[in-house]
Amino acid sequence: MSKKTVLISGGAGFLGSHLCDWFIGHGFRVIAVDNLITGSLRNVAHLKANKDFKFIKQDVSKPFKVTGKIDYVMHFASPASPVDYMNHPIATMLVGSYGTHNLLEIARIKKAVFLMASTSEIYGDPLVHPQVESYWGNVNPNGPRSIYDEAKRYAEAAAFAYKRVYKMDVKVVRIFNTYGPRMQIKDGRVVPNFIDQILNDQPLTVYGNGQQTRSFCYVDDLVDGITRLLLSKISGPVNIGNPKEFTILEFANLIRKKYNPKAQIIYKPLPQDDPQQRQPNISLARKELGWEPKVPLEDGIGRTMDWFAKNYR
Ligand code: UDP
Repeated sequence: MSKKTVLISGGAGFLGSHLCDWFIGHGFRVIAVDNLITGSLRNVAHLKANKDFKFIKQDVSKPFKVTGKIDYVMHFASPASPVDYMNHPIATMLVGSYGTHNLLEIARIKKAVFLMASTSEIYGDPLVHPQVESYWGNVNPNGPRSIYDEAKRYAEAAAFAYKRVYKMDVKVVRIFNTYGPRMQIKDGRVVPNFIDQILNDQPLTVYGNGQQTRSFCYVDDLVDGITRLLLSKISGPVNIGNPKEFTILEFANLIRKKYNPKAQIIYKPLPQDDPQQRQPNISLARKELGWEPKVPLEDGIGRTMDWFAKNYR
């Protein structure tokens, strides 16, 4: 039987590169496409010699062609940390809009299944808690985060329009805060920041009073959920994330306790429109995909800390 081919945009990014690994490990051919503005070739260097892996440097916001058959298109290209997307506001909007169209077109022409990375950010600063897929969200349409939130909301709309018009098989995963090896240490998110600060004996920076909450999912659990969705019969949107919720202060204290009880905490201003609470309701993923996260935060942070210590020291 000939191998199935998957095209992964953002394939050299944090999540995209873990997806490349999963598909190569499961006997697929992988075409990774990335413009490397926030991704890195280091993330896929170990796949370079593999005959089933191909890398194309390309901004997917611009139209492009790929030769040969493609069975699955996975759209994971986008700056994803608040610091990154605010540094690349126009590129973020374009990859969510034009980029999504270009990949939907490739999926349409190739008769491929299309799956896109959406985000818990589409719920904005949520008034429904935990967030269930049927909740429409509370997003500031023109605030500093809107370039990401609204681009992803638009991308979801585009994907479902293609499903309705062309009867395509599209799937949408709403990803909640995910962490693990290959995050960029300076991407500004709370997990790499705290790890960087621990490794460099710096105080941990808590924004606001630290009472805002997040729920952190280890990358292997996320990849398991996404690949189950891809190979399932449903379109979603489906929340994939770890429902164990922490205040940011609790999270800082958990890291201090484990790695350096003497580390200080310093408080910095809360960024504008920072969501006050976030926790996925994962009933749909449990029921339809038989999925739930398995890696406890302490274990996942340990694995991530080891990776950062090895790769950044
Ligand atoms: N945060 C923090 N200290 C940091 C970085 C982030 O307290 O050094 C907070 C941030 O204000 C937010 C939460 O941690 O409330 C998660 O932020 P992150 O940038 O990781 O992702 P977000 O969920 O906001 O997209």
